[in-house]
Amino acid sequence: MTHQVINGKKIAAELRTAIKKQTDARVSKGLSKPGLAVILVGENPASEVYVRNKCNACEEVGFYSLSKTFPYGVTEDELLTLIDELNNNVAINGILVQLPLPDHIDEEKVIEAINPLKDVDGFHPYNVGRLALRMPIFRSCTPKGIMTLLKSTGVALEGKEAVVIGASNIVGRPVSLELLMARCTVTTCHSRTIDVEGHVKRADIVIAAVGIPGFVKGGWIKPGAIVIDVGINRLETGKLAGDVDYDAAAKNASWITPVPGGVGPMTIASLLENTLQAAELQNS
Ligand code: NAD
Repeated sequence: MTHQVINGKKIAAELRTAIKKQTDARVSKGLSKPGLAVILVGENPASEVYVRNKCNACEEVGFYSLSKTFPYGVTEDELLTLIDELNNNVAINGILVQLPLPDHIDEEKVIEAINPLKDVDGFHPYNVGRLALRMPIFRSCTPKGIMTLLKSTGVALEGKEAVVIGASNIVGRPVSLELLMARCTVTTCHSRTIDVEGHVKRADIVIAAVGIPGFVKGGWIKPGAIVIDVGINRLETGKLAGDVDYDAAAKNASWITPVPGGVGPMTIASLLENTLQAAELQNS
C-alpha cells in the first residue's frame, strides 16, 4: 500500500497565513488586534518553549500577546486574581494557562475561573460540555488540529471506525467527541483496555495519544487506515518519537502523520484560530 504523508507543518503554515489575512482585515476596519494572554507557573523548560512558541506565533499573525510568568511558589489566590483581571481586560480575547500546574494549585479551579468565552484552549467544562452536545464554541486545540488534518485528506469520515488510544482530558477524550460529532463509530482505549491491538486492527482511523514511543505496531494497522500520531516522546538519544512505529505503520496506512511535523504544529495553529474566533465573538 502506498501511503501519503499528512504534512502538518505545511497545513499549519497555510492556516497562519489565512489568520494573518483575517487579522489585517479586522485591523483595517478599525477593530482591535486579537489578544492572547499566556500564564506560566514555575520553571519547566518544556513549558517555557511552548509559551515562547505561542507568543511568537501570535506576533507572526499580527496578534497582541502578553505572557506572565509566576514563580513555582505562587499561591492559587494570586493566580485567580490575575485570571479575574484578564477576564475583565478588553484587550485580551483569549486566556491560556500553561499546564501542568504545581501540585499545590487546583488545576480544575484555575481552568474554571477563566471566562468560558475567553477559554481559547477549550478546556473549560462549559466548552467540553458544549462539544459533547454537538454545539461547540471553543474546541480544544490539539483535537481541533487533528480534525483539520483528517479533513485535509479529503476522505469522508462519516461511518468510519475510529479508534483513539488515550483518554486524557486534553487529547483522547475531546478527540473522541470530535470524531463522534463527525459521525464516526468511536472506540476510546485507555490503560485498562483489554486487547488494544484487537481494537486498532479493525480501525479505519487510528489516533494514538498514549505517550509511549512506538506503542502502536505496524502490523496493527489495517491496510488503508489513516494514522494520526499525537505522541511527542523524547528518546534518550535526544530524538523525538511518536507513539506509532512510523516506518512499519506507513507500509499499511493510506495516510499518516510524521513526528515531528504532524499534529504538533497544528496545536498552535488551532490556538490562533480560537483566539481570532474569540475576538470576533467578543466584538459581535
Ligand atoms: P496522558 O499521559 O495524560 O494520557 C495518556 C493516555 O494513554 C491515558 O488515557 C492512559 O490511560 C492511556 N494509556 C497509557 N498506557 C496505555 C496502554 N498501555 N494502553 C492503552 N492506553 C494507555 O497523555 P496526553 O497528555 O494525552 O498526551 C499523550 C501524548 O500526546 C504524549 O506523548 C504527549 O506528549 C502528546 N501530546 C502532543 C500534543 C501535540 O500538540 N502534538 C499535545 C498534547 C499531548
